[in-house]
Amino acid sequence: MVERRKTRQINVGWVKIGGGAPVVVQSMTSTKTRDVDKTLDQIKRLADAGCEIVRVAVPHREDADALEDIVKNSPIPVIADIHFAPSYAFLSMEKGVHGIRINPGNIGKEEIVREIVEEAKRKGVAVRIGVNSGSLEKDLLEKYGYPSAEALAESALRWSEKFERWGFTNYKVSIKGSDVLTNTRANLMFASETDVPLHIGITEAGMGRRGIIKSSVGIGILLYLGIGDTVRVSLTDDPVIEVETAYEILKALGLRRRGVEIVACPTCGRIEVDLQRVVSEVEGKLNGLSKHIKVAIMGCVVNAIGEAREADIGLACGKGFAWIFKKGKPIRKVDAEVMAEELLKEIESLD
Ligand code: SF4
Repeated sequence: MVERRKTRQINVGWVKIGGGAPVVVQSMTSTKTRDVDKTLDQIKRLADAGCEIVRVAVPHREDADALEDIVKNSPIPVIADIHFAPSYAFLSMEKGVHGIRINPGNIGKEEIVREIVEEAKRKGVAVRIGVNSGSLEKDLLEKYGYPSAEALAESALRWSEKFERWGFTNYKVSIKGSDVLTNTRANLMFASETDVPLHIGITEAGMGRRGIIKSSVGIGILLYLGIGDTVRVSLTDDPVIEVETAYEILKALGLRRRGVEIVACPTCGRIEVDLQRVVSEVEGKLNGLSKHIKVAIMGCVVNAIGEAREADIGLACGKGFAWIFKKGKPIRKVDAEVMAEELLKEIESLD
């Protein structure tokens, strides 16, 4: 079992982060925020997939203006993502967002960051301090020569100390580099110095399989070390895939339970059925299920009984037939032609 780092608890709207709360899954919309209908539609799809907090980009005044409707109709708390333009941070708070994310390194003067923080304090809005390799302060770049782990951690600690001095505690920190090792080291350095909750992820991980693997490795290492109170997988893809990937990472580490977990054998020369077809049929039908079920689908009886014992329900295939297992016990033999349907019927009948 993963022993999680002890952090203080903060609130983003009604969602608790840190302090022993489950690791929260976040994502970010890819629509133009000013397009309220499209943005809300995407937020709803994200929430259905299990997203618990959503971030929206606010690059223009129209995007900030759209926030009122978005916040009112969003099923999950909304965070405004602010870069370079502090005035949009104030406007977003006026429109009711639950959180704002700023990279102090690109906001400008310290006094402005402090004003944002004071306003967040007055309005009960959470703040995320974002430290990214691409927006590090000039003096740190000069000191370290490049956005090293030390430079990223120092920037995060510097801003965290300022927030504390200003009497503001409802904040979390994210330190994100696109390089897994730098990212890991920087987060470890910061985590060893404070109890501030950390939002983790690998920024700009990329597309498809590569992005998913890179994110899984980077996020997985940190989570295994107990670091990470909230997570976002950043992919050049439909953000719903970010949410699904985040849950797969969390489920693999036993940190969250959601949806179907399929244990399928890799197949070998003993196989007598098209197992890939059965797995994709079952997976497709159970996609979007929010209750947690572990299903074992095995090509033959060799490992089936052992795997099925650990699963809620299982299938062990043979030549022309399959056994359905429930809580480790064989319950009935079915024809190979209908095994996927019969398995799904049994899954539906589970409590
Ligand atoms: S369960 Fe059977 S078919 Fe699947 S890999 Fe193991 S031995 Fe091969």
